Amino acid sequence: MNVGFVGLGVMGGPMALNILKGGHALTVFDVDPKAVRRLVDAGATAAASPREVGAASEVVVTMLPEPRHVETVVLGKDGVAEGLPPGGVVIDMSTIDPMTSQRVGAELRKRGLNMVDSPVGKTSEHAVTGTLTLMVGGEPAVIERVRPVLSCMGTDTYICGGQGMGHAMKITNNLLATTIMAANTEALAIGVKSGLDLDLIMEIMKTTMSNNAQLFVAMPKKAFRGDDSPGFMVKLAAKDVRLAVELGRAMGFEPWVGAACQKTLESAMEKGFADRDTAALMRIREDELGIRVRQKS
Ligand code: NAD
Repeated sequence: MNVGFVGLGVMGGPMALNILKGGHALTVFDVDPKAVRRLVDAGATAAASPREVGAASEVVVTMLPEPRHVETVVLGKDGVAEGLPPGGVVIDMSTIDPMTSQRVGAELRKRGLNMVDSPVGKTSEHAVTGTLTLMVGGEPAVIERVRPVLSCMGTDTYICGGQGMGHAMKITNNLLATTIMAANTEALAIGVKSGLDLDLIMEIMKTTMSNNAQLFVAMPKKAFRGDDSPGFMVKLAAKDVRLAVELGRAMGFEPWVGAACQKTLESAMEKGFADRDTAALMRIREDELGIRVRQKS
């Protein structure tokens, strides 16, 4: 297929490479020329705008930071929609809110175009190996048309419902995963500062209802080693939790726990940890309390 790709960052760069490796013709755009150069060196064609990407493609993938970027790149001046031929499909794989996605999708349909949302789960390593989890929303017939493109990037594909439901799933997931991580850091800071040993805390928590994957899978790899090199950056986690909290409010309730997690992440950003891994939440507590939360084993 003739595929376009806009947003060639940490995730989008390797995902676009996998589309090339899948045998599709690829046209790319990013505001960062270095990101474009890496793809052109691998065999992609550079375009001067998202509109040009659209004009060269039947399917265009977007992998951008925030809802406003998706709206501008797809519907703005010189955007993808201005170039994409009738029947063309935009697959938005960024993590954004379902309302923005549905608004952009409705506008595209008015212009005879289609939209599928397919935000991704797992990590940048899985973006490289083409083994991401894909949470897909859209019309079944359109999803089937773009499956050959999706299958270049992910191995676990879940259809979540109509357009926007992939995003609803993704931010529901990230709200829970991130609040569990933030709650872990508080509980462990209190325990260790009180004089308890981390290994004992974990041995006991393994047998109780506080057993969770952040504690036993993610934190031993990074937080308990004092390693906050990125990974999943604080600024992206803050965005995902903010979107989930706003989604809750739009549904008519106050997500108190999510709002507290959002505040924790925003406070980490104010302290200069925006570009660090979420493991930084543990480091901040350690420094505040003059402790180290480390496993002996
Ligand atoms: P990133 O910041 O590395 O990449 C974003 C890219 O978009 C950059 O290359 C940037 O130059 C480009 N860009 C920004 N505005 C643009 C515009 N107007 N036109 C063209 N290009 C533009 O971010 P990332 O880590 O690749 O994340 C992308 C999306 O994927 C985000 O929504 C993020 O929440 C989500 N996500 C990230 C991870 C992760 O582990 N990093 C995992 C799952 C999902």
